[in-house]
Amino acid sequence: MNLVFLGPPGSGKGTQAVRLAEKLGLVHLSTGDVLRDAVKKGTPLGLEADGYMKRGELVPDALIVGLIESRITNGDLSRGFILDGFPRTVPQAESLKGMLDKNGVTLDTVICFKIADGEVVKRLSGRWFCPKCNAGYNYPAQMPKTEGVCDNDGASLQRRPDDEESVVRNRLEVYKKQTQPIVDFYRAESLLTELEAQKSPDEVFESLLSQVS
Ligand code: AMP
Repeated sequence: MNLVFLGPPGSGKGTQAVRLAEKLGLVHLSTGDVLRDAVKKGTPLGLEADGYMKRGELVPDALIVGLIESRITNGDLSRGFILDGFPRTVPQAESLKGMLDKNGVTLDTVICFKIADGEVVKRLSGRWFCPKCNAGYNYPAQMPKTEGVCDNDGASLQRRPDDEESVVRNRLEVYKKQTQPIVDFYRAESLLTELEAQKSPDEVFESLLSQVS
């Protein structure tokens, strides 16, 4: 099964992608995670992406398309995949179609996560994670036992720099201008499935499972 997860920042698509990939044995490819890792390691890709990410803007299409193409052509995604955070522009969606056609791969469904702006700002301003084990927390709904400290390993929790409110608002604007048009692109391809994402993670997962099975 080959899926694309589409939706604004904070809609929970990353969390759901991890769960679904584990359940169905799919490869989960988050372009945001790949870029954050590149920034952390100071690779040429990371150095180029860093400024765009800090401002909540998209990195140039060419950078990200090259990255996905290498993962498709080296067979890395052949047991089925969830693309999380890619494509994010119409040119990226067109490039993906070309790359998949060339390699004889088809997309099964594009899941579009739907959520209100106010809920996004609320969720992201309370989002914390553990830099050691990657566990996620959400204040005040999902607090660690000791504030600021990971329950699993005692590491100090961190926030993503682009979860700061002014950057979140920019990311939402960027989503509306550059990513929303992809919804029509996939609707025209009869691949679009809309998912109500403003519910608890377990409820969203249940709906997701019923949509892909
Ligand atoms: P995410 O973790 O998906 O919210 O992505 C974090 C940041 O990485 C975004 O705000 C962009 O700066 C960058 N990014 C991730 N995926 C893409 C993409 N497909 N195209 C352009 N920029 C991306």
